[in-house]
Amino acid sequence: MERTFIAIKPDGVQRGLVAEIISRFERKGFKLVAIKIVVPSKQFAQKHYHDLKERPFFNGLCDFLSSGPVVAMVWEGEGAITYGRKLIGATDPQKSEPGTIRGDLAVVVGRNIIHGSDGPETAKDEINLWFKGEELV
Ligand code: ATP
Ligand code: MG
Repeated sequence: MERTFIAIKPDGVQRGLVAEIISRFERKGFKLVAIKIVVPSKQFAQKHYHDLKERPFFNGLCDFLSSGPVVAMVWEGEGAITYGRKLIGATDPQKSEPGTIRGDLAVVVGRNIIHGSDGPETAKDEINLWFKGEELV
C-alpha cells in the first residue's frame, strides 16, 4: 500500500497544531504507520531538502526546519502521496484553497507548517531518511 512522509514543521508544533493536522489525515481515512518527534540537525535538514540546494531560500529553510521539534510521520493508504498533498494545499498559503491545512492555518510560505512528499521516489527516500525499518508498523 502507498506510503507518504509527512512532517509537522517547528512552526506547526509551536503553534499547537499537531492534533488538528493528525486529525485531518485520520478523518480522511489514512493509516498512521510511524510517528516520532525530533529536532533535526541543520545537516539533516539539508539532506531532507537537498533538491532545493540551489534556491536562494535554502539556507533559511534548513535553519528553520532545524530550529525546534518536528513531528515526523508516515501515512499509508490508496493515493496517500497525491491526496496528502491535496490535504496540505499549495506551497504558498496565500494560494492554498480554504479547506486545506495551509489554506486554513498558515499565512506565509516560509512558515507553512507542514511538509508532504511530492512523489513515489521522494516518499521512499524521505521515509528511509527519517525512519528505520523497525519504526514502521
Ligand atoms: P514541502 O516540501 O515543505 O512539503 P512544497 O513541496 O509545497 O513544500 P517546495 O518547493 O518543496 O514546496 O519547497 C519546500 C519549502 O521551501 C516550502 O514548504 C517552503 O517552506 C519553502 N519555500 C518554498 N518556496 C519559498 C520561497 N519562495 N521563499 C521562502 N521559502 C520557500
Ligand atoms: Mg517539497
